[in-house]
Amino acid sequence: MAFKTLDDLLAQGVESRHVLVRSDFNVPLDKDGNITDPGRITSSLPTIKALVDGGAKVILTAHLGRPKGEVNEKYSLAPVAEALSEALGQYVALAGDVVGEDAHERANGLNDGDVLLVENVRFDPRETSKDEAERGAFADELVSLAADNGAFVSDGFGVVHRAQTSVYDVAKRLPAFAGKLVEKEVNTLAAVAKNPESPYVVVLGGAKVSDKLGVIEALAGKADHVIIGGGMCYTLLAAQGYDVQNSLLQEDQIDNCKELLERFGDKIVLPVDLVAASEFAADAEHKVVGLDGIPEGWESLDIGPESVKKFGEVIAKSKTVFWNGPMGVFEMDAFSNGTKGVAQAIIDATKNNGSFTVVGGGDSAASVRRLGLDEDGFSHISTGGGASLEFLEGKELPGVSILEA
Ligand code: ADP
Ligand code: MG
Repeated sequence: MAFKTLDDLLAQGVESRHVLVRSDFNVPLDKDGNITDPGRITSSLPTIKALVDGGAKVILTAHLGRPKGEVNEKYSLAPVAEALSEALGQYVALAGDVVGEDAHERANGLNDGDVLLVENVRFDPRETSKDEAERGAFADELVSLAADNGAFVSDGFGVVHRAQTSVYDVAKRLPAFAGKLVEKEVNTLAAVAKNPESPYVVVLGGAKVSDKLGVIEALAGKADHVIIGGGMCYTLLAAQGYDVQNSLLQEDQIDNCKELLERFGDKIVLPVDLVAASEFAADAEHKVVGLDGIPEGWESLDIGPESVKKFGEVIAKSKTVFWNGPMGVFEMDAFSNGTKGVAQAIIDATKNNGSFTVVGGGDSAASVRRLGLDEDGFSHISTGGGASLEFLEGKELPGVSILEA
């Protein structure tokens, strides 16, 4: 992929120039607003540091959660500004607004090497508007923060699959470059998307069932095996006639799943046992059951040990693995074994088989760290879930295409 990169911008020189950077700071927060996994902040540092070292006046834009176009303190980037200051070893100021008076005053007042973060871009409804004129007006205001001779660096890989203002429209208005994270992600994932060494195993889980059913179809055409666990598998199990009780289920997709199983049944690998729970709670009563053994009114919150073994055997023979989505509710200890076991099998395949292994997805990446697994055990951990999936499906990423020279 031919796009201009941060190195091209640095070669031009950034001293005293305003550089607008789109980062991905959409970190998970606990109910008290503490960051539970700083992975995305850590991943953003190389680009920011390089700009600071070059003497740029750095203006960061990012979103957090889904404030739906309204200012909402709950989704303020304040915890990010604090964590970023610490990680960077330099004070990062947070503007009180996105493109208002405070953001402009602070942007104008930046010295060379200073870093400013403006508030959550999704506080402005125009960020995600479908109307190009609305997004354009917002883009003009964002770009005006970068004064004359500004530049744009796209480094939020987690959002490059979205044609949103701070990702896409600003790139049309300023000289635009791929940041170090976007460059690394795209190059690494391109290797998997173009010619994955066979056997190519895709492991899917997580909660966003509707998002991901299309993904199964797209990837089943390319992969040798598609392993499915997590919240996604229950609609497929229901399509096979099992009573999944209160487990996550997308009833309107059962027919689609039947069709998927008919077309790709020989590639799709499903669980053979489950961990059923009396309710969705960390201390719920729970037990390992067969596929037809979920007690009435219970729900399945993890795959069982026989499934881990079965999935592990397929993974052990792989030469390429792409994994998106936890196998169960890994945030609760009682339901974390499926995710832990599958992640460990992928780590083992990397080491023992020379398999090229990629983890994609905010929660999947967070689960690796939370479960105390070795991050270096994978070939690549992507910061983007949706973005990495869409890329591997062969879809165009608007935030990347717009950077292409
Ligand atoms: P990613 O961010 O890696 O793309 P998702 O956001 O799609 O993944 O899904 C992650 C969430 O899926 C986790 O919070 C996990 O608790 C949830 N999950 C996994 N299995 C189940 C299940 N059986 N029932 C309910 N939630 C589940
Ligand atoms: Mg997620």
